[in-house]
Order: sequence, then C-alpha cells, then structure tokens
Amino acid sequence: MREVEYQSSGVPLEEYELTRRDHRCQKESEERSERVRKQVDEDIAKCRADPARAERRRQAFENVAKLMQSFKKQDHEIMRWRVRLYCGHIIQTEAHYTYTDPISAGGYSKQCPECGEDRQTIVAFEPIGLRAEPPKATEPTPPPPPKKPTRAELERRVKALEKENERLRAKRSV
Ligand SMILES: [Zn+2]
Repeated sequence: MREVEYQSSGVPLEEYELTRRDHRCQKESEERSERVRKQVDEDIAKCRADPARAERRRQAFENVAKLMQSFKKQDHEIMRWRVRLYCGHIIQTEAHYTYTDPISAGGYSKQCPECGEDRQTIVAFEPIGLRAEPPKATEPTPPPPPKKPTRAELERRVKALEKENERLRAKRSV
C-alpha cells in the first residue's frame, strides 16, 4: 500500500464558529443541489413521455451499479474520517484510502444522518484511521535449497568422467 499523508481541517469535536466561507459554500451547495433536482425532474418527465428513453436510462443505472459492485474495496483500503457538517453535527464518513481528505474524495457535502438536512457541507474534518489493519507485507519466499544429487545422478556423473578420462588417455597414446 502506498503511503498517504492525510490532511485535517480544524478539529471537528471542538467548538466551531461558522465562517463567512462556510456560509457561502453551503449556499452554493444548496443552489447546486437545487439545479440537479430540477434536471432530474425534467429528465423524469421526459422518460415518462418516452419509454425507450426510460429503458435506456434504466440500463445505464444498472451498468453503473454493476461497476460499483466490482470496485468493492477491502476494509484496509477504506479510510474513516470524522467530519463536522455545516449544521453542527459530527459524523463519521469513509473514503478510499488514497484520498488525502474527505472533500477531494467527493464528499463535498452530505445528508446529515443526525438532523436529516440534505447537502450539508463539510466545515472541519480529521482522519480516524483505516477500517482495518492492512495485511502484513508477505516476505519473499526464500529460494528452495539446492537439491542434493541422488545416488543415481552421482553414479552417472562418475561414469561420464571415467568415459572422458578414457577418451583423453586414448588420444594421448595415439
Ligand atoms: Zn445535522
């Protein structure tokens, strides 16, 4: 596993005064989600009017779901984060371990499980740790010890040497 330097921003568990930037981010997040909601509504209306389109859409969703399934990650690849949301609640979230912070992992805003408010931007966060310890790196297996020659092999070798000896002797006597 590659080393990742995890970032934190503020201390989620400490008192936190929302900044002007937090208010702006939250407003933008709400506006963005409103735009997305409108687009989805329009799309649903179009799908109602056009069954072929609806079928294509259903197929696309299915493919994405399958893809997500194939990306299923092991516990030691999941980093847990403590985050403070705009609403003031502190929740735990997870992201792939290669992300240095939960925002770059796509968790810019979330639905708060405490108060149910949607699109709550993250105002502070800190890493908690991986979901599970990474498995120990397996040590390279030592090469097998050289095989001891068997008696038959030794005998064969001796015979070969004897033959060679004879050949040389014969040569010299010529
Ligand atoms: Zn909340």
